[in-house]
Amino acid sequence: MSDRGLRLVWIYPDLLSTYGDQGNALVVERRARQRGLQVERQDVRSDQQLPTSGDIYLIGGGEDRPQRLAAERLRRDGGLNRAVDNGAIVFSVCAGYQILGHEFVNDLGEQSQGLGLLDVTSTRGEGERCVGDVLGDIDEHLGLPQLTGFENHQGVTHLGGHARPLARTRLGHGNGTGDGTEGAWHDTVFGTYMHGPVLARNPQIADLLIKLALDVNALPPVDDRWYEALRGERIAAATEPA
Ligand code: GLN
Repeated sequence: MSDRGLRLVWIYPDLLSTYGDQGNALVVERRARQRGLQVERQDVRSDQQLPTSGDIYLIGGGEDRPQRLAAERLRRDGGLNRAVDNGAIVFSVCAGYQILGHEFVNDLGEQSQGLGLLDVTSTRGEGERCVGDVLGDIDEHLGLPQLTGFENHQGVTHLGGHARPLARTRLGHGNGTGDGTEGAWHDTVFGTYMHGPVLARNPQIADLLIKLALDVNALPPVDDRWYEALRGERIAAATEPA
């Protein structure tokens, strides 16, 4: 972190920001400020160069065509890979998650190259689109409470040996492979299919990103009443009988 504070980068709001994913940037920013940190947030449009000196990069979901364009521009830019080489943290959602992998199937039915920042590969699912609420147990290495989110994707994501599942689903499809995995992570790079926005529904993940950026094990507590109310409501709605 620089003297100017925590540098937060929201990638391509003009292409990737479905289902309120921009809320993820708001939540990280707010929770960092509540801890007395200065935050410098940069929203980088797809015609701008990505800074390589950010601490935390957030990337959201998107429809198939914007996803292809975003992947092409991010590959050409090269800044996100350089930032990760410098130790930056990346949190990605849905289309953004697929872009971080090796490749995905684009809107033209062709393979698009991803950034290779996560050892995952996405294909297009043959079955019905995965839509609905998801509940899952987050990887015990991360020490976080139950994951809650909302998914809407056709893509299916397979994990390679260098990525761990972010969670194991109790409800919903997650990666869509039928093996009960949801999302992936390796070192400082995270991917999930969860919208919601997911960090409003799981503020502990936002805190994890901040802790990694600060290289600390704990943060001062903040008032989580509203987050807990939202979590409780969403978990109850997901589990109540139809
Ligand atoms: N286009 C991708 C898919 O359907 C991602 C969708 C999204 O980001 N919601 O798999």
